[in-house]
Amino acid sequence: MSLVMSGRELAASIRSETTALAAELTAAGRTPTLAVVTATDDEASAWYVRSLARTAAKVGIACDVTDLGPASPSRPESPEAVVESIRVELIALSENPLVHGIVLQTPLPGGARLADLASLIDPAKDVDGANPTSLGRLMTGLPAFAPATAAAVLALLDHYEVALSGRRAVVVGRSAVVGKPVAQLLLARDATVTVCHSRTVGLAAVTSTAEVLVVAAGRAGLVGTSFVAAGAVVVDVGTNAVADGGLAGDVDPAVAEVAGALSPVPGGVGPVTTALLLRHVVSAAGGV
Ligand code: NAP
Repeated sequence: MSLVMSGRELAASIRSETTALAAELTAAGRTPTLAVVTATDDEASAWYVRSLARTAAKVGIACDVTDLGPASPSRPESPEAVVESIRVELIALSENPLVHGIVLQTPLPGGARLADLASLIDPAKDVDGANPTSLGRLMTGLPAFAPATAAAVLALLDHYEVALSGRRAVVVGRSAVVGKPVAQLLLARDATVTVCHSRTVGLAAVTSTAEVLVVAAGRAGLVGTSFVAAGAVVVDVGTNAVADGGLAGDVDPAVAEVAGALSPVPGGVGPVTTALLLRHVVSAAGGV
């Protein structure tokens, strides 16, 4: 059996550091504040926002949620009007000195693109690295907030002291939220990185070359034992709702028989992502 790369212990240690820094900032009259803008009735998304707000409160971060979703009384009539309201809100929050971090929750209404709207978030407050400017800065090695999920993958690998320099890394998924920034962060750590996607031919043959394999495809059980080299380190980012109401990863749990290490779902990347997002808020508020 492979090593289980749980994220719970790491998340707890990030939260306790965040709590201490948030308390210092609050004592200095600068309560770290996160604003979340959401405009969906997607249940998974709503669950995530509630959980983020609860965790923020526990670490001493104020969390203000602007809900423009269908259930909200202040919901504008048309999808276009909702998108316009999101624009107005993001501009106002970016200019508000009392707000330090801004998250625009997906999915978005009316076919709106995250990159278009997130470009209105002040990069200094872009704690989930959604503004194309943040991603561009990441690509060019300039300081920026990385998307929290991508940062969580690297934090988990570091926590388990997985060497990256010179190693063959394969990332499955090329979204701007996970796949591309993870590939970039691995590259910045001198791994040799291959990125796969839905048009990749012979996926298993490519993933089998990986010493470090990161899977973020959103397809439950996509990666089975024949996709993984013996002893590889596998990070499963996927979170797929399953029939019994639970969560399944993109990696078949049987991969644990082949891999050297595997992150579980739930309890792997997820808790670290939330903890790092809140850590970013404290940094944006002027903490270290
Ligand atoms: P996404 O935007 O849907 O992107 C999925 C990527 O996977 C795309 O690049 C797609 O390729 C690729 N893909 C889909 N099917 C594939 C297949 N059969 N073979 C190879 N590649 C395939 O999803 P995302 O936002 O990146 O999220 C990915 C997963 O991570 C989801 O399960 C999501 O719920 C989860 N997630 C978890 C966290 C966390 O904190 N744990 C945070 C964010 C996301 P194309 O580009 O060719 O379409």
